[in-house]
Amino acid sequence: MSNIPLCPYGSHRVIDPAGALPQAARKLDNHMPMQRNEMRIAVETLNVDSASFTQIKEACGGDEGKMAQMILDIVAERGKMQNPVTGSGGMLLGTVSEVGPDFPGDAKPGDRVATLVSLSLTPLSIRRIRAIHMDRDQVDVEATAILFETGIWARIPDDMDRKVALAALDVAGAAAQVHGMVKPGDSVLILGASGKSGVLCSVQARRDAGPQGNVIALCYDPQEMEELKALGVCDHIIRADARKPLDVYRQVLAANGGRKVDLSINVINVPDTEMATILPVRDGGIIYFFSMATSFSKAALGAEGVASDATMIIGNGYTKGHADFTLNLLRSSPELYQLFNKRYGGED
Ligand code: NAP
Repeated sequence: MSNIPLCPYGSHRVIDPAGALPQAARKLDNHMPMQRNEMRIAVETLNVDSASFTQIKEACGGDEGKMAQMILDIVAERGKMQNPVTGSGGMLLGTVSEVGPDFPGDAKPGDRVATLVSLSLTPLSIRRIRAIHMDRDQVDVEATAILFETGIWARIPDDMDRKVALAALDVAGAAAQVHGMVKPGDSVLILGASGKSGVLCSVQARRDAGPQGNVIALCYDPQEMEELKALGVCDHIIRADARKPLDVYRQVLAANGGRKVDLSINVINVPDTEMATILPVRDGGIIYFFSMATSFSKAALGAEGVASDATMIIGNGYTKGHADFTLNLLRSSPELYQLFNKRYGGED
């Protein structure tokens, strides 16, 4: 291992622009040999962030071959899987192949792990794409990734399908943060409620809002909507396009006794849904944007434009204990686990 000055945040691998941190960098060095404060992972599967996967799918007209080439091009160009349009990454599943002497914790070669920091800052080199799973945003690869000493990771648990764990860990921050926001008796609107983070947030919101609360789910996909309904955690399920804020506003008020809700949670994977998230929330309420397709300017100026005095929160991908929290949420509800297993499970 070389003696270059090492940075706990990985800036020693930033090629361009000099002085940047890895997430903001345009290009990382994914060829440099492993350093003392790093861990090397043989990657099996990339769980591409939903907003990024959707953008790539649309840009390639749903053609798998073109999508594979686009992913290879992004990684070749940037040294990491960071979608230049959405800016987002995802996370990965793999096996530890080497642990530097200054890498903290107890990881050892052979451990099956998922990274909990974004692919948008993880040095990655892909040798081959083996398969693209269009319905679950996952890409099976032969690849190598590097984790810096500040890069958090989780051991894949033995008691669940590893692709289920990967899918849940990708959005681990969402339900864990919802838990801190929803109070008993709250009315809660979840936009994108039948998606991956949506179902986790719906189950968690029900638990926290309790029997006096009102959990309103906004769904788009009719089949996913039926799956959410079967969980029995929502008081109302409405079907709407969140790019149409006035329609959403009317439907939400109708489901909440004519009143605005206390809290809204946006877990949608497409742009232009800020106003549908803001309009139905009361003054003094909370608006939580977990979606990577959220535009700060659209949200800030949009809220101002309708004189909304709600507090807007950016969904941090990390909160203390989020991985265990989310895996335990799956363990605590067999129905939720079954839904995840049906959608994201499978050892292929
Ligand atoms: P997902 O499973 O794809 O769920 C997204 C949901 O939004 C789907 O049910 C989708 O329906 C729905 N949707 C799409 N267009 C809609 C529209 N016009 N109106 C209403 N609903 C619509 O995604 P996910 O993995 O849960 O991720 C959700 C969001 O969180 C994404 O933006 C992702 O990038 C972001 N994310 C953020 C963090 C963070 O750190 N903050 C971490 C991970 C992920 P269809 O299935 O019909 O398209």
